[in-house]
Amino acid sequence: MKEYLTDKINNLPASATLTMAAKARELKNSGIDIIGLSLGEPDFNTPDFIKNSAIDAINQNYNSYTPVDGYLELKEAICKKFHRDNKIIYNPNQIVVSTGAKQSIANVVQAMIKPGEEVILLAPFWVSYSAIVLMADGIPKILKSDISNDFKVSAKQIDDAISEKTKMIIINSPNNPSGSIYNKKELYEIASVVKKYPNVFVLSDEIYEHINYGTEHVSFASIEGMYDRTITVNGIAKAFAMTGWRIGYLGAPIWIAKACTKLQGQVTSGANCIAQRATIEAITESPEKIKYMVKEFEQRKNLIIKLLSEIKGFQLNNPDGAFYIFPDISYYFGKTIGDVTIKNASDFAMLVLEKAHVATVTGDAFGSPKNIRISYAASKENIITAVNRIKDLLH
Ligand code: GLU
Repeated sequence: MKEYLTDKINNLPASATLTMAAKARELKNSGIDIIGLSLGEPDFNTPDFIKNSAIDAINQNYNSYTPVDGYLELKEAICKKFHRDNKIIYNPNQIVVSTGAKQSIANVVQAMIKPGEEVILLAPFWVSYSAIVLMADGIPKILKSDISNDFKVSAKQIDDAISEKTKMIIINSPNNPSGSIYNKKELYEIASVVKKYPNVFVLSDEIYEHINYGTEHVSFASIEGMYDRTITVNGIAKAFAMTGWRIGYLGAPIWIAKACTKLQGQVTSGANCIAQRATIEAITESPEKIKYMVKEFEQRKNLIIKLLSEIKGFQLNNPDGAFYIFPDISYYFGKTIGDVTIKNASDFAMLVLEKAHVATVTGDAFGSPKNIRISYAASKENIITAVNRIKDLLH
């Protein structure tokens, strides 16, 4: 029945992260003991102070449509958060609350990218950026990096790649899938390139801001000259263990915020009312309150690095943030394990799923075909068992 669907949807790749998670769920439901390390999802529960505010909101009868761009109290709380954590001054009319950071990104791209305009993606990049750009008939322009440069694209690479068709650069720091953080110097260098091109905008995806193991987080919009050219996207999913609550938000120049609100008004009418009330509580509290999760992620990171480094052929970086490790496993390309000859990272991820029963995600989906992504937002027991299974399979 494909012929009844649009070319756009037929050609759209499915989200590799969600596809792998669905596959793992399916195998689990069929009785196979799968360890899911494919999805970037904290295994913690949402903290009680946030859950209680949602329960209060239900009891206070928050059940009507909210303003399309979010409750005013929430937008005010987001402005305070941007000031407190990011040194950015936004007013509530520059904020749009959406159904997850993913929707915030899709809104911006739909609102700003004209057919044929280029969006520069810094590989490795999160799987949905390229699909979102393609849905807007934009052209993803992918700049490469690898483990030898800590998975970071340089300002010079960006400068060389900008053409008259370039409209936007998407920067994601801390990065999904590599965990690398672009430091202050690197971001300032990128900003001096951006300054040369007045028609180029930056979408700064800062969703992993708080999952940071010690590098200063610099918000692109806080860099001199970048405020009017930057859209800052963030959300509550990762830092507050609230992935399923689906709340993301952006801060941007008013004209961009207005365009995103107009679009959202025709698509979702705005984000869930109870989740919005709970988000006020989450982001008003000091980030110190969620540090216990970050400390735990850091211990798990150290654990998984130690365990994976004992496996032959795994090249590893030491991520500064997020909760992923992105090993280069190209050593295995051309090798045969059991009856499977591994040609690429997808074969490797499939082999690990089918034979070791561990779900990961192929690096192809992130623009890095030599790697696989492993999420360590899982219990230490699961991390240990998963890595042992992979080791047994490969040794
Ligand atoms: N962002 C998370 C990940 O990369 C959740 C899944 C998705 O939206 O891609 O795993």
